[in-house]
Amino acid sequence: MMNQEIKTTPTVKNGGRLFRNDVIFIVALLLVVSALGLCFYFFRGEGDKVVVTVDGKEFGTYSLAEDVKVEIRTGAQNEEVNVLVIRDGLAYMETATCPDGICADHKPISREGESIVCLPHKVVITVYATEEEDAPDIVV
Ligand SMILES: [Zn+2]
Repeated sequence: MMNQEIKTTPTVKNGGRLFRNDVIFIVALLLVVSALGLCFYFFRGEGDKVVVTVDGKEFGTYSLAEDVKVEIRTGAQNEEVNVLVIRDGLAYMETATCPDGICADHKPISREGESIVCLPHKVVITVYATEEEDAPDIVV
């Protein structure tokens, strides 16, 4: 009885270990794939400028590299205001006079294609990446 149990147990253990190795391999593979995906996401998807449009017309373009605060005035008497802030490479709406406040609640954006929209004021802030990657280095 005892001998039989001892003989059976290692076989089960062995099978379990093989299965676990497969799982480890698959998990490792998934980790590598997602790590590559994350690298791509973080290093290639980063934008470097934001373009502000009001009612479809360009209002201004601002570099994400420079900290600025921009007042975007809209409305018939310029009575409405959205305050765009760029800080530490992130762009966000600091305050807005719109009734819904959705734009001011939006998380900061910095990746190519991300945008913050203020529907009531027709203000759209979109992140772009400069096309030419081999911009000449200007040595001062
Ligand atoms: Zn808004």
